Amino acid sequence: MIEPASLTKQVPVVHPDVFQLLVCPRDKQDLKCEGRHLVCEQGHRYAVIEGIPILLVSDVQQTHIEGTRALAVAESGDASTLANFKLGQNDIDPFVQGTIGATNGGLYQHLVGTLTEYPIPLLRLPPGENRWFLEIGCNWGRWCIAAARSGYRAIGIDPSLKSIRAANRVTKQLGIEATYIVADGRYLPFRDQSLDQVFSYSVLQHLSQANTLATLSEIRRTLLDGGNALVQLPNVYGIRCLYHQIRRGFREPRDFEVRYWKPAELLAAFEARIGPAKLTVDGFFSLNVQPNDLRMLLPRYRAIVHASEALRRLSVKLPILTKVADSLYVTSQRIE
Ligand SMILES: [Zn+2]
Repeated sequence: MIEPASLTKQVPVVHPDVFQLLVCPRDKQDLKCEGRHLVCEQGHRYAVIEGIPILLVSDVQQTHIEGTRALAVAESGDASTLANFKLGQNDIDPFVQGTIGATNGGLYQHLVGTLTEYPIPLLRLPPGENRWFLEIGCNWGRWCIAAARSGYRAIGIDPSLKSIRAANRVTKQLGIEATYIVADGRYLPFRDQSLDQVFSYSVLQHLSQANTLATLSEIRRTLLDGGNALVQLPNVYGIRCLYHQIRRGFREPRDFEVRYWKPAELLAAFEARIGPAKLTVDGFFSLNVQPNDLRMLLPRYRAIVHASEALRRLSVKLPILTKVADSLYVTSQRIE
């Protein structure tokens, strides 16, 4: 282990408590600082760009084009090609303004370029009480911000350096503390049994089944005994999901297209890779129903959120509704 006192001087952005959790994503060995790189005992080197560690594995196929782009910036050590934004107190980050339709889903399309506040979702977890929270695929940080506000020590990873820079800007602007790192869920750069809660929303649906299963194994490795995963994934039998599959002609999904899971497959995958699992409803008729964002939505979309919330509450008493919900949460606990 490296002495934390020496780290505070060398790693200005990653908090020393977070640095203690970090390891090489390839072999899980300790990392130490060497100039603008983090280096493991096996000699694997990872660039730190503007204080952000780029802990991607460069010799495997990336899950997202932005991972390849982040590696190119890491290789050149030059971040000057990336856009720079200075935010005033009431500004909305231009990255969020531009990507809100893609990051939050179809209900948010009309908000592209017109956001006046950040849509921060309701995190369906108990208060954090200073426990570690890792989000896989955090994009501009909406769930990490929710987690930090709920008392978690939040860490977000994403293969996109652009997203991580935006997450840093927005989180700082809101006066919140969270740590963001460029990394890949299949190769988590965290120590064995170091995290209390792992979370992922609207992310694993874009990965192949093999990549999702690899990510679940990494989640188990990094969870403390008794730690929990909460992961949202789409249901193959959801009403809206069926409609999308019909439009796609039920062919195999390609590239970044959504993968739908059977509820029984989800339970089996999580139980085999992490531990005892259960399904609950996130929502109906959409893959991103956020009651916190009601006031920002168009009236017809508000109606979808209200209907979805009514059915979600009903599903607590009528679990059979889980079978036809579009968006499901899987809760899974690591037990020794
Ligand atoms: Zn290594």
